Amino acid sequence: KKLGIALVGLGSYAGGQLAPALLETEHCYLAGIVTGTKEKESVWSNKYDIPKSNIYNYENFDSIADNDAIDIVYVVLPNSMHAEYTIRAAKAGKHVICEKPMATSIEDCKKMIAAAKNAGKKLAIGYRLHYDPFNDQMMKLGQNRVYGKMNIESSFAFNMGNRNQWRAKKALAGGGPLMDLGIYCIQGCIYTFGELPTSVSARYTTINEKNWPEVEGSIDWELTFPSGKATCSTSYEKQYYGHLTANTEKGKLMLSPAFVYNGLRGTTPDGPMTVKPVNQQAKQMDAFALNIINNSKILVPGEMGLRDNYIIEKIYESANNDGKEILLSNLPQILDL
Ligand code: NAD
Repeated sequence: KKLGIALVGLGSYAGGQLAPALLETEHCYLAGIVTGTKEKESVWSNKYDIPKSNIYNYENFDSIADNDAIDIVYVVLPNSMHAEYTIRAAKAGKHVICEKPMATSIEDCKKMIAAAKNAGKKLAIGYRLHYDPFNDQMMKLGQNRVYGKMNIESSFAFNMGNRNQWRAKKALAGGGPLMDLGIYCIQGCIYTFGELPTSVSARYTTINEKNWPEVEGSIDWELTFPSGKATCSTSYEKQYYGHLTANTEKGKLMLSPAFVYNGLRGTTPDGPMTVKPVNQQAKQMDAFALNIINNSKILVPGEMGLRDNYIIEKIYESANNDGKEILLSNLPQILDL
């Protein structure tokens, strides 16, 4: 049997990527929707053949508990709403996938993990690149030190045309591009080294201060790992750019573009990566469905989301203190819930 997924928040990622991917999945399918916009109900219901009984709004959402057709709730709302809907879904007895960043505070991340645990349900974060073959290759080559010692550089930026959206509002986004894009660089550095960082130092590099009254426009940071350094940057003020580069003893091991849905490219000191692209979102959701069916270990659990939120918090702490080095010595403890 395919597991039923309900998407919560029918914005651009849910509509543009997740719903189409759910037409390709083998172990799960789009069974329901949760939306605050009445007009979307019939549009989605017609397009994806969703019965009325599987359509919810934010008020009656908790009654999803009584609906056996929904096994998994996938939270695709603005960042500060992730905690509330993840916790309500877990309390309704559903497994949950929550988009990145997991939440806007460490406290919320911990509450979300506890809610899933208390309900005996699984919680995953939408870290699709763990299911992408190019990033997987980067992990394997990096973690096995195939090209020797390395330092890493990673950037992710785009030029945000419309600054009226939730991403530029602190209360909804929790922060600026670090929360939204920089999190991919943090992830990339950790999975390429295969280690946790031990300290961080960061500086705001916002170009046009007046455009960014609530969140940073740009930020640079450096992470120290047991076996090397990572230098990263992210911005809402620059042309689209996203790469993950390990400068190894034998040359560049690089993904560029690294974080996109399609069209990734990888190079190694031995030549181009020759892996076959996949639908990342379909792989990610199928993997979670199989984790539930087989009761197996999740590659991208809530604890990983908590880890990244913790590192992000320390990056902001450093940037707020003129680049002061902040030790991440509590990182192992914070994961040991
Ligand atoms: P979006 O603005 O396109 O969609 C957000 C949805 O939330 C909309 O349907 C909107 O109606 C709804 N919403 C409910 N309450 C809202 C409120 N108070 N303010 C604004 N919108 C409200 O955003 P998106 O790009 O789809 O991002 C949603 C989440 O998905 C974010 O957490 C984002 O980080 C994540 N995301 C992940 C990826 C990925 O590759 N994993 C890609 C894009 C977005």
